[in-house]
Amino acid sequence: MLSEAFGDGVQLTLIDRDDAFVFGYSKLDVMFGRAALEDVRLPYADFAKPGVRVLRETVTAIDPDARRVTTDAGAHEADILVVALGADYDLAATPGLVEGGNEFYSVQGAERLREVLPTFTRGRAIVGVCGAPFKCPPAPSEAVLLLHDYLSERGVRGDCEISLVMPFDIPVPPSPDTSAALLAAFAERGIEFVPGRRVSSLDPARSVAVLDDGAELPYDLFLGVPKHRAPDVVLASGMAVDGYVPVESRTLETRFPGVYAVGDVATVGVPKAGVFSEGAARVVAASILAQLRGGERPGGYDGRGACYVEFGAGRVGRVDVDFLSGPKPTGTFQEPSDALVAEKRRFGSSRSARWFDRPT
Ligand SMILES: Cc1cc2nc3c(=O)[nH]c(=O)nc-3n(C[C@H](O)[C@H](O)[C@H](O)COP(=O)(O)OP(=O)(O)OC[C@H]3O[C@@H](n4cnc5c(N)ncnc54)[C@H](O)[C@@H]3O)c2cc1C
Repeated sequence: MLSEAFGDGVQLTLIDRDDAFVFGYSKLDVMFGRAALEDVRLPYADFAKPGVRVLRETVTAIDPDARRVTTDAGAHEADILVVALGADYDLAATPGLVEGGNEFYSVQGAERLREVLPTFTRGRAIVGVCGAPFKCPPAPSEAVLLLHDYLSERGVRGDCEISLVMPFDIPVPPSPDTSAALLAAFAERGIEFVPGRRVSSLDPARSVAVLDDGAELPYDLFLGVPKHRAPDVVLASGMAVDGYVPVESRTLETRFPGVYAVGDVATVGVPKAGVFSEGAARVVAASILAQLRGGERPGGYDGRGACYVEFGAGRVGRVDVDFLSGPKPTGTFQEPSDALVAEKRRFGSSRSARWFDRPT
């Protein structure tokens, strides 16, 4: 938005240690062999916008008072700083996860699972959440439904059990209708739902997952959602409180003048999901635009977002959630349909076109 408005008139620096962007939901496609990694990677080399420098550097320190970012290649000072480093995974917080399980929340984890899944032909698979908050609350539900399809297509579903362990009482708490549809889909497919629990450790020697109430579930394949936390560099910067960066939810401003935080790294009162990161980024961009042009500040961030939910069998539903405008979060559900499959595809292709000049 800033590049579109000002072109070369402002100096914009985008720093990322990775060389490509990957949509969160593409990890499910990679892990189940529905897409190759090369096909879902959007290289920053293709991000060519007037006024924008893209630097592939690792941020090693942030000084929010001075608005200075130190990287492995030097220091960068800014008039306005937007911290958008996402959430990291704390695998060590779940003893046994590395030795005895798998995670599907990173690109590397999803890629590894692509090799592991074909070796699973019998026994119990657990999709287990190891801590909240976690990204994209519907994703573990999507994972069990897609796993059901994957095992069915390979003719081994009858020899396998699937369980989902989640720290919520229903799969998508702000939307009872979405949750009811997911629970019905689990029941139809014989998928066990273990609500209100998280996986606190794995005992690889005995192949059991230990839940936070001490109960034990045996497994032959464990697909974990690791505990999340803000990146170390953010924790060391003094910006975080209770693990993430607090912001004023309408403006995304931190308590440091000229410093914003957007996306999973921030505590905004919305779930950790890309649609919310994008919505927050739009508000910050509009506010910087107003500041530079001297116009009216935009209306505040509304905490609304839509999420496409994979229901298996090639079907996609949609949940629209509103986290900030009422006294409590609300959600509306659209039944899975072919139209929503096409809409999800358009959602992705419209972003790849705008950000990476890909054909729609
Ligand atoms: C399986 C799965 C499915 C998902 N499905 C959906 C979905 O359907 N819809 C949806 O809206 N969301 C979905 N999500 C969630 C979504 O991917 C994230 O919420 C979103 O990517 C958060 O955006 P962000 O910009 O805050 O952080 P990120 O996308 O994590 O970006 C943070 C960036 O910071 C960079 N970085 C971190 N530390 C450093 C450092 N020290 N130096 C330099 N760079 C650094 C990283 O390389 C990264 O590019 C899903 C996530 C998963 C795991």
